[in-house]
Amino acid sequence: RRHAVIVKKSPRELDKMAAAGAVHTAVIQKLATMIEPGITTLELATVAEQMIREAGGIPSFKGYPGPQHPVPFPGSICASPDSMVVHGIPDRRPLDEGSIISIDVGVTLDGWVADAAFTFPVGQVDPVAEKLLATTRQSLDDAVAACQVGGRLGDVSNAVQTTVEAAGFAVVRTLVGHGVGREMHEDPQIPNYGPAGKGPRLEPGMVFAIEPMTTVGRPDVYEGDDQWAIYSRDGSLAAHFEYTVAITEDGPRILTPWHEGPGAL
Ligand code: MG
Repeated sequence: RRHAVIVKKSPRELDKMAAAGAVHTAVIQKLATMIEPGITTLELATVAEQMIREAGGIPSFKGYPGPQHPVPFPGSICASPDSMVVHGIPDRRPLDEGSIISIDVGVTLDGWVADAAFTFPVGQVDPVAEKLLATTRQSLDDAVAACQVGGRLGDVSNAVQTTVEAAGFAVVRTLVGHGVGREMHEDPQIPNYGPAGKGPRLEPGMVFAIEPMTTVGRPDVYEGDDQWAIYSRDGSLAAHFEYTVAITEDGPRILTPWHEGPGAL
């Protein structure tokens, strides 16, 4: 693989990314209020796109040309239920009571991208699903805590793996987090597993989309017929939580703070 070039952002650029992140937070917190049995992911996507465009932004995923995908992504968000890990195309199928639904939103504002995700329970879910969601969210928080100047990228990866595997769940190996900025996918790749103390040193101005993707069963995945959706191979439930996070001298700065404010998740 070519040498990774990690583009660092100035404090002013981080503020611009935070502005995109504020729109993102409003969207994901709004969708949170809508998620219940019977709603369709297309309805969620429509509201998301409307909010993003009213704020002067662009839904980053819409029309995204994945390198190995013949068809650009058609949705304005990704909506991935149950055993689907990521990259679900929103559709007209109503969500079922007891399902889980991963919602991934990208907002481009003034040329800067904010990328984050949350997996929601639909109505009442069983204890295993509840534990998967809590564990995956915790692994993201642990990864953010590892985003310290002077640390290594491997510390971030290792934090996810340690928390997820301690709970008896699996980390998907073939999907990774990434740098983010003017482009949605920048260097470096950020696996959700691997040894601490390895990899690039973390420096102020680096911005990462950290996104643990986990399953209840085995970590193996496959691509669906639409050539976008990724499912757990064993059909077990999958979860996905994500923040866009900046490394700063004052510690990690979450630029997509869906955990804050009146609509805090
Ligand atoms: Mg991402």
